[in-house]
Amino acid sequence: MNILILGSGGREHALAWAVMQNPKCDKLIVAPGNAGIAQIATCADLDINHGGTVVTFAEENAIDFVIVGPEAPLAAGVSDRLRDAGLLVFGPSEAAAKLEASKAFTKEICAAVDAPTAGYGHFTEAEAAKDYIRQQGAPIVVKADGLAAGKGVIMAFDEATALDAIDDMFGGAFGEAGAEVVIEEFMEGEEASLFVLVDGTNVLSMGSAQDHKRVGEGDTGLNTGGMGAYSPAPVLSVEIEAKAMAEIIKPTMEEMARRGTPYQGILYAGLMIKDGQPRLVEYNVRFGDPECQVLMMRLGAQAMDLMHAAAEGRLDQAQVNWADDHAITVVMAAKGYPGSYAKGTEIKGLDALTVDGHNMVFHAGTKAQDGKVLATGGRVLNVTARGDNLQEARDRAYAAADAIDWPGGFMRRDIGWRALQ
Ligand code: ATP
Repeated sequence: MNILILGSGGREHALAWAVMQNPKCDKLIVAPGNAGIAQIATCADLDINHGGTVVTFAEENAIDFVIVGPEAPLAAGVSDRLRDAGLLVFGPSEAAAKLEASKAFTKEICAAVDAPTAGYGHFTEAEAAKDYIRQQGAPIVVKADGLAAGKGVIMAFDEATALDAIDDMFGGAFGEAGAEVVIEEFMEGEEASLFVLVDGTNVLSMGSAQDHKRVGEGDTGLNTGGMGAYSPAPVLSVEIEAKAMAEIIKPTMEEMARRGTPYQGILYAGLMIKDGQPRLVEYNVRFGDPECQVLMMRLGAQAMDLMHAAAEGRLDQAQVNWADDHAITVVMAAKGYPGSYAKGTEIKGLDALTVDGHNMVFHAGTKAQDGKVLATGGRVLNVTARGDNLQEARDRAYAAADAIDWPGGFMRRDIGWRALQ
């Protein structure tokens, strides 16, 4: 099979790594890819948010199967254009991708199926939103409706902060994404992510993970795209996962199908768990980054078969073969991230690392130049390892990270602390 993966992050490097291990893969192209991906696959420079461009490229390169990594091409309808052209795709339609692209849409679906989630109000106008905040009081969560790269969520612990957030959003701080606002009840508990394969009808768990959003150790400091992750998430016990499936995920998927917009692809449910009860925080319509890195590390070659089965509507015949293992990924980021940081600093020592089914370094923001590897982004490397338990995986990951010589970078040293406590 000739496979095309869309995207350029650590997530796509992990997807490419898993796909390359599957003997059914004859040729792999990743667009646009990155320096790490270029070591295992062909990279192609392509505007992946433009459906017509991707269709032409796929046809010219005799692609049999397309895996869409990030949300932007999904929200732009790229998977629809590919399907219209008769190509097999892993990733939801534009209509189904609204589960991530519009928070109000997701809340409305949850209300329709009575899925446990935070109480909310949906507003298109500032005064009504402010009245609602005054009525509800703090703490309260104010969210821009649309995609804002994780920055459109304000957790307000006093009323004034929430009211200011309304002024900012309706004042255009998040552009079109903030033209509508969702205001939510503040939920307490422990967060975890559940990843579920969906083929339009059938759902199959692809594992759980927990990430570390804050830049500082002990989960302090500014929010980031994620500084590390591990899988499985112990808080998502078999019982809680079954509850989340029965009360949240399956009803949502049935409702999507009932509305004529069935969901196909990976569904990432952000859950808040308290007293044994999961509640939905959000849906994402793609793998998390860095959560994908730990999931791929655990699944290996079977990941491709599972995604292929989802795309072909065969999940009722598929199963995941878990190895009872654990994986962890430690993000190495450029010093200064998530604020401003230097670009172009050199990373040494990568060639000397052992990479195999137990240790991998997935690249996110790197470029190869004159035989050197240079850092080009904020989050740059994902040092990932697998073990029989989380401690073993963690020891392996930090041993590898410590062997990387990159004075321009930093990492959190406490990834996995909650699970190891
Ligand atoms: P990201 O892309 O970073 O996942 P997002 O913009 O899609 O973010 P959400 O996932 O809805 O936004 O919110 C981001 C984070 O804010 C959540 O992971 C959670 O920690 C916190 N959060 C969101 N909603 C609530 C809520 N109602 N109660 C408590 N915490 C919340």
